[in-house]
Amino acid sequence: MGKTVLVTGGGGFLGSWLCEKLLEQGSDVLCLDNFFTGDKRNIYHLLGNPRFELIRHDVTVPIYLEVDQIYNLACPASPVHYQYDPVQTLKTSVHGAINMLGLAKRTGATILQASTSEIYGDPDIHPQVEEYWGNVNTLGPRACYDEGKRAAETLFMDYHRQHRVAVKIIRIFNTYGPRMHPKDGRVVSNFILQALRGEDITIYGDGDQTRSFCYRDDLIDGMMRLMATPAEITGPINVGNPGEFTIRELAELTIELTNSSSKLVFRPLPQDDPRRRKPDITKAKAILGWEPTTPLRQGLQRTIDYFADLLAKGLVEA
Ligand code: NAD
Ligand code: UDP
Repeated sequence: MGKTVLVTGGGGFLGSWLCEKLLEQGSDVLCLDNFFTGDKRNIYHLLGNPRFELIRHDVTVPIYLEVDQIYNLACPASPVHYQYDPVQTLKTSVHGAINMLGLAKRTGATILQASTSEIYGDPDIHPQVEEYWGNVNTLGPRACYDEGKRAAETLFMDYHRQHRVAVKIIRIFNTYGPRMHPKDGRVVSNFILQALRGEDITIYGDGDQTRSFCYRDDLIDGMMRLMATPAEITGPINVGNPGEFTIRELAELTIELTNSSSKLVFRPLPQDDPRRRKPDITKAKAILGWEPTTPLRQGLQRTIDYFADLLAKGLVEA
């Protein structure tokens, strides 16, 4: 018999893809979401599947379910969204983690936390290894997300040590792909839509800051591999694509692939914007046998095709 798997944030960009992959694997999937940043269209095609169930619920409120595994993804991920209601963002990470860990403790489920490279803040070491404790401003506008995710990691390890809950922590680096929210303000969706519409491409700062972009399918593969590891593997494990690009390079590649006439314009850099990000994935390779297989050019083209289709169908404003 397949496992019953709870995916919190299952209506979002990564969560909806995870639900799909879990169904393909033969699991029963409970998709829990309050649809703050998720979209029912992401999971509409799954609703007819008898092994799929949708629960509209906020993770900050306790819930009683019987499950074998929990993937805790509920949390807005884009800076624009998580800064919109910072108190709710912190509650989602902290109260959400406590509620989901309590559920795991009661049911004996294995629980995976979608943590983030933001744990490292504006990093002093490069590339980032899991042993690095990070450089986060506790008072800044990104802190509601960064500190919430850091506290969640602490809760996961404390439930593991104190209550022997089987936990897994994945630190996700910037991930992109089809189903990103068109208005979520993240750099990949912003640049693609601007290029497709022929609008100016908004580079924040001088564009020399770097990010490492992982394609959605690679990321979910790494996440499912971590869930399948033996109980003694807790992580944290970095999962991301070590290819490092400046934001200006991303803008230029997007213009090239869309054949756009858009021009680059420069806007102020948001406060505490990290200067560099690149995962060291030695652990992911050794423990999960995982490494990304989708180069940026290929993943970006697929994402461009996705947004071009949304524009053509009038599902986002042209
Ligand atoms: P997303 O915004 O598309 O998905 C988050 C989902 O969580 C949405 O469907 C949203 O409605 C839901 N949600 C938010 N608050 C909730 C609450 N209180 N109760 C129930 N549901 C709630 O973002 P995503 O990119 O799919 O990110 C998924 C997870 O991965 C997040 O936890 C995020 O922090 C983490 N992550 C993502 C990235 C990335 O680059 N995409 C990087 C690092 C970490
Ligand atoms: N960025 C940009 N233009 C945009 C959106 C973002 O130059 O229209 C920059 C942003 O300042 C950051 C990088 O792109 O340096 C990645 O931003 P994103 O919001 O995607 O994720 P982050 O890694 O900062 O959480």
